[in-house]
Amino acid sequence: FLSVATVLRESARKYPDRVAVVDSDTRLTYRELWARALRCAGALRASGVRPGDRVAVLLPNSADFLYAYYGALAAGATVVPVHGLLVADEVAYVLRHSGSVALISGGPLWPVAEDGARAAGVRAVRGVPTDGDPLPAPEPAAPDDTAVILYTSGTTGRPKGALLTHLNIVMNASVIAHDLVGLDIDDVVLGCLPLFHSYGQTCAMNATLRAGATLVLMPRFSGAGALELLAAEGVSVFMGVPTMYHALVEAAAKDGTTHRLTLRAAVSGGAALPVAVLERFEETFATQVLEGYGLTETSPVATFNQPELGRRPGTVGHPVWGVEIGVADAAVEDAVLLLPDGEVGEVVVRGHNIFAGYLDDPEATAAALVDGWFRTGDLGVRDEDGFLSIVDRKKDLVIRGGFNIYPREVEEVLVRHPAISEVAVIGVPDEARGEEVCAVVVLRADAGAVTEEDVIAWSRDRLGRHKYPRIVRFTETLPLGPTGKVLKRALTAASS
Ligand code: ATP
Repeated sequence: FLSVATVLRESARKYPDRVAVVDSDTRLTYRELWARALRCAGALRASGVRPGDRVAVLLPNSADFLYAYYGALAAGATVVPVHGLLVADEVAYVLRHSGSVALISGGPLWPVAEDGARAAGVRAVRGVPTDGDPLPAPEPAAPDDTAVILYTSGTTGRPKGALLTHLNIVMNASVIAHDLVGLDIDDVVLGCLPLFHSYGQTCAMNATLRAGATLVLMPRFSGAGALELLAAEGVSVFMGVPTMYHALVEAAAKDGTTHRLTLRAAVSGGAALPVAVLERFEETFATQVLEGYGLTETSPVATFNQPELGRRPGTVGHPVWGVEIGVADAAVEDAVLLLPDGEVGEVVVRGHNIFAGYLDDPEATAAALVDGWFRTGDLGVRDEDGFLSIVDRKKDLVIRGGFNIYPREVEEVLVRHPAISEVAVIGVPDEARGEEVCAVVVLRADAGAVTEEDVIAWSRDRLGRHKYPRIVRFTETLPLGPTGKVLKRALTAASS
């Protein structure tokens, strides 16, 4: 009997009186959280939801999100977490495409939810339903049943619904909790990653509940706000994306309260963590940062810097327990031709964390699942000690005058410029060379006058002639997605 709902049920049995979740002033024990999930499950059943139905959830990081998520699962439904930044038409697309029978929403997201549901002809439920008797026990599920459908943000076109099974999520949460972070019941994890996204959902929420630890929810991230919560709640484990690490370091530099902190571990993933940011964070917070790598389709964690195997900043470590990785010829798409260590190619993954396919999209599924491997679309290289480095996304590669340029390598150099706070490197169309390398730069608040020529001259001294940026644009902020990742496609669109 292995299902995502049992993650919460087992901890409610073992640690009924421990605090499971903190949502501003509300502290809920495992017993209370599970009871409310079963009540939501009973209400969903009373309203006609049957096992196997799909129930969409559009809620901010809140205790309500957990009631609805575990409640729908306990009722035997598949959960469709809806991205918190979508507009009504996009919500309607997800509802229609997933065939959801209801949408649970509320709070500030209610107006969008209501409009989206109306457009899709789907019942919208305001607030987590509680009418009716609680379900006495969760509906059993098989490990290969779909637990959650997560829509990718659609960098490559229309959003695709990745089918994640109970096994995918339970295994990944268990591996994170026990093998990678070593969570125990005394740990307090900051839940600042959005729960509708795979990273926040598996690593922050499910792994924390799997371990019987405490999840402190944060609906909207800011460096200063996170710093305050870290101290006030005695947070021991931080999980974030690189932009959050950057914001925390900046906030700490301003108010210097880090001596009150109880952090013992920090996990980074979702995008490349520049080594300079890792170093500043470790210096400021006196905690090791362990970087991992994965995608929605890999539930998400595929590799991790595991202390037992040695840690190597700038790499994403080794595959996690029960998972295998390979580096394949990126040019050959209909077969997986593995390359020797030391060569750059497309990262491929297989193991218990690989999703079951994209909902109603056999073409995209066939392109992603090849020869028993999942093709990630990321370029990587493995060294002789088995450490994987992510070189860049295949689609972010800049091809200038026939040379492949990996923006990430250029970003790593630029972020070390004393006046530069953040940077994103993109390719912009160029008649002569096909593409030109462009650096979009955010200057530090205390930076003096810095010109485009200064940045170019600085890069020229540190990067090969074919790859230093010839164009530098200054901006106040970089466009970020909901998980705090830089939206390169928005930058590219604005520059074309
Ligand atoms: P979309 O669904 O639009 O494609 P997305 O690619 O950001 O959005 P996610 O599944 O959230 O979807 O992110 C996975 C991607 O994030 C990976 O393919 C990889 O490019 C990047 N990534 C994750 N972790 C790391 C890391 N540690 N280093 C470098 N890149 C990473």
